Amino acid sequence: MRSKPSFKKNTHKSREKKGSYMKITVSVIKADVGGIGGHTRPSDALIQAVRDTVNNSKHLLIDYYIGYCGDDVHIVMSHRHGVDNKEIHKMAWDAFMAGTQVAKRQGLYGAGQDLLKDSFSGNIKGMGPGVAEMEFDERQNEAFTVFAADKTEPGAFNYPIYRMFVDALSNTGLIVNTNLADGVIINVMDVEQGKVAAMELWKDKPTLEAALMYPGRYVVDTVTTKEGEPILAASTDRLHNIAGTYVGKDDPILLVRTQKLFPATEEVGSVFNNPHYVAGNTRGSHNMPLMPVKLNSAATINFCIPIVESLVFSMHEGKFTGPFDGFSTPDWDYIREIATKKAITIRSQGFIHPATLVPSELEYAEGYKARMAVLEEKMKPIDGAGGNSSDGSNKKENYEDPD
Ligand code: 13P
Ligand code: MG
Ligand code: MG
Repeated sequence: MRSKPSFKKNTHKSREKKGSYMKITVSVIKADVGGIGGHTRPSDALIQAVRDTVNNSKHLLIDYYIGYCGDDVHIVMSHRHGVDNKEIHKMAWDAFMAGTQVAKRQGLYGAGQDLLKDSFSGNIKGMGPGVAEMEFDERQNEAFTVFAADKTEPGAFNYPIYRMFVDALSNTGLIVNTNLADGVIINVMDVEQGKVAAMELWKDKPTLEAALMYPGRYVVDTVTTKEGEPILAASTDRLHNIAGTYVGKDDPILLVRTQKLFPATEEVGSVFNNPHYVAGNTRGSHNMPLMPVKLNSAATINFCIPIVESLVFSMHEGKFTGPFDGFSTPDWDYIREIATKKAITIRSQGFIHPATLVPSELEYAEGYKARMAVLEEKMKPIDGAGGNSSDGSNKKENYEDPD
């Protein structure tokens, strides 16, 4: 079960007491329900079906935007119903169901891929689609950015989030912005155990670093100020933990508020300028660099280099202006070139680890297990090789770590 994040939830009751300011929720919900000719991008008709369904329930919303990253469709919504709202989640579920119907009709690949349950059961979390949402008092000039990724996993955001909130060499705001210099709370989820730990900067820095070191297990769930003001929320579901078997990578989404007390928009964008290696891509089973791309880009058929898009929004009284395409300016072409070169470099060693993931992370594990079963059958003991007892009985006494 997902533990509660450490900041106080703003209930409707507390909102009424507080009076005049505007409490807004931004919800971003995404799912892959089919791609043209493979895991590439949704069809226009699929997107239209999602749009029509959301539009039919637009009385629930103040505003919305629909787009896609690779084969994943995202719905960005503003409303006044708080996080984990049943009606909002159901509308998103219905929209993805409608998209699935079109995908089936058109014979798209992976129709309904991320919808792992037969019917909606109250909260879309744990049912396949990814969710990132925050409720907050809207500032006079509210600014936020959504990062949507494809062909990777939630842990892909560990490195950029670290650069945003912990690494002053990447973000000078951590020195010159008093609020950021005070340190934030980073809630880290253990996606294997379904637990969350609140890491408080700066005292928990090395423990946070130890967790972020392994993005396959520990991922950033939320970031708040020390006072509990929400700054960032990420989708953290691991689809194969829900489905029990591989059904596609849990392509993540990230929502981060920017400016004033928070990192500047360019401080959250620039942390994607060093395309780091992330797990995912072809068959969800390789390591490749995360390439920043323009809005509504298809996944590349060049072995599915993992991609990330940046949707930069302004919001006033819940109404969106934008998104501005954060990775559309000419400098990002150069970063894309770096990503492409890094992708070709790691692909040059084919299936040899670390180009491929460790066995426990391989997504198409059945075929791998079948190969290993044959290998195991062929394995014969080595005559006279008794020197390495597995119970440690031959272990040298007084062993010291050689560091
Ligand atoms: P998606 O997770 O984006 O559907 O991709 C799955 C895959 O196996 C690509 O090769
Ligand atoms: Mg897919
Ligand atoms: Mg995808």
